[in-house]
Amino acid sequence: MSFGIAIFFLEFGTFDVESMLDFNTHDLSEHVGTLVDSAMERDAVLLPPRAYLGASSLGEDCARRLQFQYFNTPKDAGRHFPGRVLRVFARGHRVEDWMADWLRLAGFDLRARNEYGEQYGFTAAEGRMRGHADGVIVAGPSGFRYPMLWENKAVGAKTFRELRKKRLAASRPVYATQVALYQAYLGLHEHPALFTAICADDMAIYAERVNFDRGLAQRASDRAVHILRACDTAELLPRISTTPTHQTCRYCPWQDRCWSLPH
Ligand code: SF4
Repeated sequence: MSFGIAIFFLEFGTFDVESMLDFNTHDLSEHVGTLVDSAMERDAVLLPPRAYLGASSLGEDCARRLQFQYFNTPKDAGRHFPGRVLRVFARGHRVEDWMADWLRLAGFDLRARNEYGEQYGFTAAEGRMRGHADGVIVAGPSGFRYPMLWENKAVGAKTFRELRKKRLAASRPVYATQVALYQAYLGLHEHPALFTAICADDMAIYAERVNFDRGLAQRASDRAVHILRACDTAELLPRISTTPTHQTCRYCPWQDRCWSLPH
């Protein structure tokens, strides 16, 4: 301790240095966090709007919400994704890249892009329905049938536990619908897909072979047609519930708009 600092302690008595440091750290975390959040949120606003129904959301339960999405309807005030959530999305993309590398390291010939250098994907309904798959595995260790679709998610511990307990279709039907649609539209329905999930808490791996569910793919595709037709005729599809406090509505970015409409 320098002489000047010692005088300071003598003159001002004792105080809890630990809590002072904690306070400063907290203050700085908040300051830097706010700077990063604001920058990420500004960036997110600049992303081009998505003018199609995405295969990744077609399994969601509210068709009206999908209409709002399709029309790029402005979200309710204060309902944009905060920086923290945007970082969770960013983490998902990075984890997907890592998992692809690790699968390759393990001997899977995983292709994330087709021969034109584009992400594997499909468009239907004149481009108004689209999906982008994580990859296709064309060869690799025995015990698998190739080519097979590969789809990966970075998930929290709760989702990870549920996947292990109930498997994909029962625990995460939105993901299962996405897989079924990719298998159907990319012509990868003959062999089971490989679905993997990484637990973001401890990086544990979940893997499941997913047989093609023709009925699920057909229902999702029919649903997309139904939603697009309703959009074309400006028909607002029914709400999912009779109360705005329904679980799905509580987290819906169009909750206020939806429930301010007459029906
Ligand atoms: S508020 Fe509820 S009913 Fe309305 S669009 Fe959102 S999820 Fe659907």
